[in-house]
Amino acid sequence: MTEISKRGDRSPVPAEWAYAPAPESRDIVQLQERYGVYVGGKWLEPAETYETVSPATEEALAQVGQAGEADVLHAVDAARDAFENGWSSLPGSERAKYLFRIARILQERSREFAVLESLNGGKPIKESRDVDLPLAAAHFFYYAGWADKLEYAFPNRKPRPVGVAGQIIPWNFPLLMLAWKVAPALAAGNTVVLKPAETTPLTALLFCDVIRQAELPPGVVNIITGDGRTGAALVDAAVDKIAFTGSTEVGKAIQRRLAGTGKKLTLELGGKAANIIFDDAALDQAVEGIVNGIYFNQGHVCCAGSRLFVQESIAEPVVEKLKRRMATLRVGDPLDKNTDVGAINSRAQLDKIEELVASGRDEGAEVYQPTCRLPERGYWFVPTVFTNVAQSYRIAQEEIFGPVLSVLTFRTPEEAVEKANNTPYGLSAGVWTEKGSRILWMAERLRAGVVWANTYNRFDPASPFGGYKESGFGREGGLHGLEPYLAFDGAETFGG
Ligand code: NDP
Repeated sequence: MTEISKRGDRSPVPAEWAYAPAPESRDIVQLQERYGVYVGGKWLEPAETYETVSPATEEALAQVGQAGEADVLHAVDAARDAFENGWSSLPGSERAKYLFRIARILQERSREFAVLESLNGGKPIKESRDVDLPLAAAHFFYYAGWADKLEYAFPNRKPRPVGVAGQIIPWNFPLLMLAWKVAPALAAGNTVVLKPAETTPLTALLFCDVIRQAELPPGVVNIITGDGRTGAALVDAAVDKIAFTGSTEVGKAIQRRLAGTGKKLTLELGGKAANIIFDDAALDQAVEGIVNGIYFNQGHVCCAGSRLFVQESIAEPVVEKLKRRMATLRVGDPLDKNTDVGAINSRAQLDKIEELVASGRDEGAEVYQPTCRLPERGYWFVPTVFTNVAQSYRIAQEEIFGPVLSVLTFRTPEEAVEKANNTPYGLSAGVWTEKGSRILWMAERLRAGVVWANTYNRFDPASPFGGYKESGFGREGGLHGLEPYLAFDGAETFGG
């Protein structure tokens, strides 16, 4: 006993844990120098291209097509042709086979996709490997199961596909957002034209090879790359439905353009979620939930828990524990398997984060950032927490979409609800407490599409996801996620 404690006394206590680099090999990814757009099962060469880079190094990765209006119209024609000449009349069980195939190929090629996702988007490999890829495959598996059961899922409503769906997705979960959009659309018998975000086109382009491998009929899925102009042209094209995920500002512009056209629309927009910690919560677990809620994917998450509400009596220990935990986060190379926080997706996004953080300092909030050495090239931002935040500060009101947390306090459950709902958004919320009854009481009152209890950022294809207020309308995931892709005889539903 004495020996052990003596040894214990002499053993050096590390000031920090040093990790040897553990980089994932890039060799599995074969990049092309130049990518066209994928229309009607063929690669077409658009007149213009642009460069896509790795945000971690600013290294150029490839030239990618900037689809113009003619390319967009061509893609919509190809989708229409595929819809009318085969896909929409295929038995559901046949459509399901293709979806199952896609899911299995994604699983088989998951390492390749994960490396490419981290390379092009900047997110840590452990997230793309353990979250994005398994969930993307799970979405295809899940919706494959519904393809031949639509009559049972919507009894007496005679569901039929809507037609051609135009889908516009953002850069924070490029492949996963593709899966959220493409899987239910195909299961319901629609064909699609999808535009990935300008900064993260590469996994969507690699997905075209999965489609080829799965022998999906030409024109059922068309991928057109480009910037916002390409998205705008898709909105104006002769599609039957638009599904959009991105900023509230662009979502509003799309809604204005579609008003009166009869096209269906679903919008999944921004958020400023409240993560609420009661004094009876398991604090260490809650701190892990806070970290996961805001620093996961560099905070580039629409449902990020960016406003932390802590019950006043435990505010000090929670903030103390949080700071200690933040000091252990490893920021750096997204392809290193030890990395917790990767690169900011683009220069423009970094500028936006920096501007909002400066406003927080100017308005009087207290800032804490752990010491960490950032790489010299690329776009980086240190995980940040603000205390002393007033509800009126911009950092408590606006979506920062970066690794920045604002801490506020409350005394009673009523006050927590009032403060949490004091936002134009309503996408998600988290509640941490030991009391089941309190969880239900809170969930009933929080104006948020998803309320997590004693966890955060958990996703499942069977669970619907979507917003209230300026976070949008329509649901993705679950049975609800099929409805926007279906028309029902004699019972047209607005918006969704
Ligand atoms: P955008 O809303 O601009 O982008 C989302 C998608 O829409 C992209 O594919 C984009 O193309 C496309 N797009 C842009 N303009 C138009 C248009 N007029 N018509 C049709 N499609 C269009 O988001 P940003 O990338 O500019 O990010 C800005 C902010 O939006 C972030 O800081 C964040 O706050 C929020 N955001 C929210 C997301 C969410 O999941 N809720 C996701 C991403 C961003 P392109 O890539 O070329 O711009």
